[in-house]
Amino acid sequence: MLYKRSSELFVEANKVIPGGVNSPVRAFKAVGGTPIFIKEAKGPYLYDEDGNKYIDYINSWGPMILGHAYEPVVNAVIERAKKGTSFGTPTELETKIAELAVSMVPNIDKIRFVSSGTEACMSAIRLARGFTKKEKIIKFSGCYHGHSDSFLIAAGSGASTFGIPNSPGVTEGTAKDTLLAKYNDIENVKALFESNKNEIAALIIEPVAGNMGCIPPQNEFLRQLREVCTQNKCLLIFDEVMTGFRLAKGGAQELFNVDADIVCFGKVIGGGLPVGAFAAREEIMNYLSPLGPVYQAGTLSGNPLAMAAGYEMLKALNNNAIIFDRLEEKTAYLEKGIHKVLTAKNIVYTINRVGSMISVHFDKGAVYDFETAKNGDNDTFKKFFHGLLRKGVYIAPSAYETWFITDALTYEDLDYTIRAIDEVADEL
Ligand code: PMP
Repeated sequence: MLYKRSSELFVEANKVIPGGVNSPVRAFKAVGGTPIFIKEAKGPYLYDEDGNKYIDYINSWGPMILGHAYEPVVNAVIERAKKGTSFGTPTELETKIAELAVSMVPNIDKIRFVSSGTEACMSAIRLARGFTKKEKIIKFSGCYHGHSDSFLIAAGSGASTFGIPNSPGVTEGTAKDTLLAKYNDIENVKALFESNKNEIAALIIEPVAGNMGCIPPQNEFLRQLREVCTQNKCLLIFDEVMTGFRLAKGGAQELFNVDADIVCFGKVIGGGLPVGAFAAREEIMNYLSPLGPVYQAGTLSGNPLAMAAGYEMLKALNNNAIIFDRLEEKTAYLEKGIHKVLTAKNIVYTINRVGSMISVHFDKGAVYDFETAKNGDNDTFKKFFHGLLRKGVYIAPSAYETWFITDALTYEDLDYTIRAIDEVADEL
């Protein structure tokens, strides 16, 4: 495959955009090489500036669950744009999508729309702090909740209960209010509550982690978190930016039958336009301005184009519950196929999957938290990534990412992918 034009465009981009990209994960830094510049996309396929075609397993990092350029969404955006792109006033469409979202997701009465997953999570913890009148939060090492200051906290030496900033620019003052816990380790969470009695406003979690590769919650972990949070009068926040409207109509809350206090959304809810949202029961949401004291706002929040796209997406998912069954079947088929070829070639690997989130870890043992995720063999991953890319299969350019399956994929695409993995396995 030739990447001539992509390489040229990357040189130009680097002159005016830091690292040539507007979001670091696009930069191919973890895998080496030049990022591919995409010209257009349709269904499950991406087409780059050099004329190469790819089967897409990134799908804009989640939103394109029904494929690229999904016609009802595209048409709704075009029709809406003709009538004006932003008013800064309420519109009827905002109520319609809110009603639909509230009807699809368990345990929420009201929802507020923002423009990204970052904003949704950032606003959710402010709301939780205002509501509980407490300041600390618990997050899990390896989980990502957007790039607002409170969440850019790494595990440090691991044993430390107070976070340290992992990005310059995050102050010590902010970092000390973020406590770090180990994913799938309930005793670790309980110890944090014990040593910070009556101080923890919220515990935020990706109910299925997708930002250290895919990591499912083990056994009763989410239910146990629910119990511990209730006992400690701490709000449980499910960051469903990846899982929402993907794992089920009602997201992870529905799939695992566990109620969160606040739920954050992004990705699918915007149908590929910039949308995030956070939602909760009435008592909590009424704490927001203009009803309550917690301030939160946005010039482009509830933007008509974004709402038109999101509304069409949610309607399609709500009216066709079979989509979730199909996604499960297609991803299970892919998983089975990958198992078959990698086992036959004696590759050391682990596959984690929940519904249409799947990842291949080149890891000796089970991958159930950040530490085990970090044990993966990155050199093997790099070869795997570039090998697949050359064969026209585009997975995320980092071992710490989940693949997102789209319903637009055909079984032919899946078979092609499995064959490509079989061939690439010879080079690993
Ligand atoms: N939460 C999770 C679970 C995410 O995966 C992401 C983005 N990948 C975010 C929050 C932040 O969303 P955004 O990039 O739209 O700000």
